[in-house]
Amino acid sequence: MNVPQTAALNRRFVLTQHTQPDAEPTPAVWKLETVPVPEAGPGQVLLRTLWLSLDPYMRVRLNDADTYMPSVKKGEVMVGGTVSRVEASNHPDYQVGDLVHSYAGWQDYMISDGSDIIIKLPAGAPHPSWYLGALGMPGFTAWHALMNIGKPKAGETFVVAAATGAVGQIIGQLAKQAGLRTVGIAGGQKKCDYATGELGFDVCVDHRAKDFPAQLKAACPKGIDIYMENVGGPVFDAVMPLLKEFARVPVCGLISHYSGGGMEGADRLPGFMAQTLFKRLKVEGFIIFDAYPEHHANFQQHARPLVEGGQVKVREHIIDELESAPQGLIDLLKGDNFGKVVVRVGA
Ligand code: NDP
Repeated sequence: MNVPQTAALNRRFVLTQHTQPDAEPTPAVWKLETVPVPEAGPGQVLLRTLWLSLDPYMRVRLNDADTYMPSVKKGEVMVGGTVSRVEASNHPDYQVGDLVHSYAGWQDYMISDGSDIIIKLPAGAPHPSWYLGALGMPGFTAWHALMNIGKPKAGETFVVAAATGAVGQIIGQLAKQAGLRTVGIAGGQKKCDYATGELGFDVCVDHRAKDFPAQLKAACPKGIDIYMENVGGPVFDAVMPLLKEFARVPVCGLISHYSGGGMEGADRLPGFMAQTLFKRLKVEGFIIFDAYPEHHANFQQHARPLVEGGQVKVREHIIDELESAPQGLIDLLKGDNFGKVVVRVGA
């Protein structure tokens, strides 16, 4: 059923310039424009953005070079995961009022033919924004990295950095539930206190502390069996000597390099390769998109009851208004977020 559309306007952020690989993005990277709301054609739906996810991968897509995903081109709407409400529908699978998780980007409205809709949220989902975090891409990332790559065994030592962030908070709690000794790494005492007090980490170490490597070593007296690599850089330098023989290292992200260069891999390469060989490490890079067809249903079956039942806690860092998205991403990349970053775009 098509519904007459109002004369509302669509605010959207488009890219005006790319960012050098070793530079921080600035607000001048984007321009806010206002255009008419598009109309849903045959077989299409009009989606109204309610929540926009801000994620570290967005930084990589600001470079003027394609990686595992194309860079955002000048004049294009900035990419981003969203929870949206169906405002008008000419598609048999979607009714007006349905909530869906899609990638509508940094804008109020988007037209979809359904092919880019990842899931329809369950009717009455109590926290739609969680489908961008604990029950969405970051939660799935955490679950997949731990269960399918980390392959945890009770009693082992598990370490993750950015421990209170979108991925870290979920993988830390799942690892604890799997019977592991969990060691978090986070920026600052407040985040560390939250990691141990609320998320159940056995220990949390502040990576900004001068004696961070020594503190990490003391926190892992038997070494590290599973290291979830979220950040790279000096944190990995401290982790590498502590990895045990046959340790598993899901390589999830390298946020410390996203605006600092160094991803070409020359400086640490011989030491890293030697460790990989001598300790027979299992190092596995992954991009979560690849895991959707085979594993997403298992994730939902496992994680949804835990998250909705409160056995896995959720901390969100909520930002109001689409206009705040550029600064929100800039802050996230500096570690100024405390929890999964979501922008409340519409109601
Ligand atoms: P978070 O919510 O954890 O936010 C990023 C956090 O990274 C910051 O809060 C900060 O935490 C930490 N950080 C930033 N800069 C540095 C630095 N220089 N050194 C150490 N820590 C730093 O983000 P996500 O949970 O969404 O993402 C975590 C990682 O996982 C990222 O690298 C991301 O790219 C990756 N990822 C990969 C996916 C995949 O498919 N492979 C999917 C999803 C995420 P603190 O203040 O505690 O240091």
